[in-house]
Amino acid sequence: MASLAKTMLLGLLGLAIALIAQVVLRRDSPTTSEVSQPYTCPPLSEAAALERFAGLISFPTVSNASSEDHVNDQKVFRDMVAYLARSYPRVWRRLKVEHVGRVGENELSLLITWTGSRPELPAVLFVSHYDVVPVTPGSEGEWTHPPFSGKIADGYVWGRGSLDIKFGVAGLLQAASVLLGGEGEEDVEEDVAVFRPERTLMFAFGHDEEVSGSHGAATIASLLRSRGVELDVVVDEGGAILEDGLRPFTSRAVAMVGTAEKGYTTVEVTLRAPGGHSSMPTTDGSDIAAQLWRLLGAVRRSTTPTRLQAPVTDMLTHVAPYTSGWMRLLLSGAERGGPIKWLLAQVFRRLGGRETAAMVANTLALTRVRGGVADNVLPQEAVLSFNGRLLPGSTPGELVEALKAAVKVAGVAAEVAEVKRIWECSVEKLFLAAATSGIWQF
Ligand SMILES: [Zn+2]
Repeated sequence: MASLAKTMLLGLLGLAIALIAQVVLRRDSPTTSEVSQPYTCPPLSEAAALERFAGLISFPTVSNASSEDHVNDQKVFRDMVAYLARSYPRVWRRLKVEHVGRVGENELSLLITWTGSRPELPAVLFVSHYDVVPVTPGSEGEWTHPPFSGKIADGYVWGRGSLDIKFGVAGLLQAASVLLGGEGEEDVEEDVAVFRPERTLMFAFGHDEEVSGSHGAATIASLLRSRGVELDVVVDEGGAILEDGLRPFTSRAVAMVGTAEKGYTTVEVTLRAPGGHSSMPTTDGSDIAAQLWRLLGAVRRSTTPTRLQAPVTDMLTHVAPYTSGWMRLLLSGAERGGPIKWLLAQVFRRLGGRETAAMVANTLALTRVRGGVADNVLPQEAVLSFNGRLLPGSTPGELVEALKAAVKVAGVAAEVAEVKRIWECSVEKLFLAAATSGIWQF
């Protein structure tokens, strides 16, 4: 997947430039000949743009949930931001750049504001993030090119963050630079008014998206709210352009547009047992291992309802015109209900693999098991973390109830408690959800 980075960066540049121009030129009915003129992009130096992007990859901006400030090394982030300022000087010179973060900590996220000629219009927000997930220690040698090399080879840019999602940051800054009249350091002093948006444009770049965004994105959201900023549209990171199509429906390229995100919850189940010495394990099924065995069996046998609903149905009806024969008939019926919709839902759930199965049901996955104090002691307690993802319209309570039912079926002594959720539809949470979205919205 990382090998697509170059193609995607260049695609993004074009899309970002076109989108920025189109959002501004087309959102309101043009009333003057000036705004109805098609916009012609200035020439772009592909090699220079890729070099800047590759340079961004070379900073190991790893976020870290267990660190109080959510990053491994603040200096790396500060150096990386300084690199961005050097690489896209027009943005830093002409636009308002704010460093944002939680009070009392280094402000490692960025909010960039390009004030439009009609600032009374609701703004457009482009979201990305420049933190990346860690590289598994010891696996560095398995990378085709080192993870933070930003190596340009074989027609691609390689490295951690090349797809998720430093190319979003580089692409937006590059597009803004081009629209501001120059892409590099040359002529930065020259006031070349190539493009001025009507509507205010903002870029929000988070530094802890991979570990929840609660310091970066959430703080930016609070800041915007405190200022009374109204947004017309938010454009965030997302999936991909599937160049080989959406199998088995079509082999034509499909750009996935994310319009919603599943809810998130973590539920802990705590098992308790008398304990004892491992040399004499219990025989009545009361020990932690026996309870675990029964509980996981019950969870596995329990089924969540299959629901084919919007926005998945929207996707299918939009793909339908690009399919043929019976497939077109099938997909066109996705919104109508009845046996065709039922059949489609079953195909997604049972035959399509884990990606399609997750589109039509709430999911529940055991992600952590904690328990035991020594090799020769029967544990008295074990804590299981189940991570659930919820379809629009579902609530975390549904998964809590499902686990309580499994506990009952398994006949185990357990407490079930929800410990984390990203679900409520407050402004901050919506923003947070947007920042953690997994689907490109272009
Ligand atoms: Zn991402």
